[in-house]
Amino acid sequence: MHIDIISVVPELLESPFSHSILMRAIDKGLVSLKIHDLRNFGLGNYRQVDDYQFGGGAGMVLMAEPLDQLLTSLTKEQSADAIVYLTPDGETWNQSMANGFSLKERIILICGHYKGIDQRIRDIWVTHEVSIGDYVLSGGELAASVVSDSIIRLIPGVLNDAGSALNDSFQDNLLAPPVYTRPSEFKGHKVPEVLLSGNFSAIEAWREAEALRRTQERRPDLLSD
Ligand code: SAM
Repeated sequence: MHIDIISVVPELLESPFSHSILMRAIDKGLVSLKIHDLRNFGLGNYRQVDDYQFGGGAGMVLMAEPLDQLLTSLTKEQSADAIVYLTPDGETWNQSMANGFSLKERIILICGHYKGIDQRIRDIWVTHEVSIGDYVLSGGELAASVVSDSIIRLIPGVLNDAGSALNDSFQDNLLAPPVYTRPSEFKGHKVPEVLLSGNFSAIEAWREAEALRRTQERRPDLLSD
């Protein structure tokens, strides 16, 4: 898979992909990622990428021309399976969308800034509009990092244990059961006996029951989906 991310603050995207699982996925060649500074396609001597909004009002808007030129250059040789604009008014990102996107070969993510991007780029280029929740961030970079992380960890070979992602919350509309590690007793709190029993079918049954109980308590909406 290849992911291109378009940003006016590319520095914000450095850290998430330079450590831990995502860095290893890139190093192993399981995913490639390129961050594009929109300012390289800015207009004039000042490499202008934003302008006042028509109709007045506070806040700048990312202009159509630089985005259009960058998207044209990115898709000249190979089209993208999805061109995603991160935006609070998009469809709320979830695990099922991450599963679907993990099968795509090429994704372009557009990070907005200020008041957002010129609507005509959304009309002409964008195939998916995605929100990471009902709140407003200053820019799309954190949202792009969240979306990319949730996709990349599903690519076969990225996690050491292939089955691990399948047991995570939301994969089968259940939340994950509680987990424990050593010591078996901590400040008077003991690890449930069954987890120390070595009886794997009993452990599996306990985990399923706990996942169901936790989902019923915290997210009953998942069970009705
Ligand atoms: N004026 C926009 C609105 O009210 O919908 C908010 C613009 S926000 C300050 C700047 C950029 O941050 C957006 O263009 C988008 O790329 C990103 N962003 C902010 N909140 C987001 C969210 N919940 N999900 C995804 N992206 C978000």
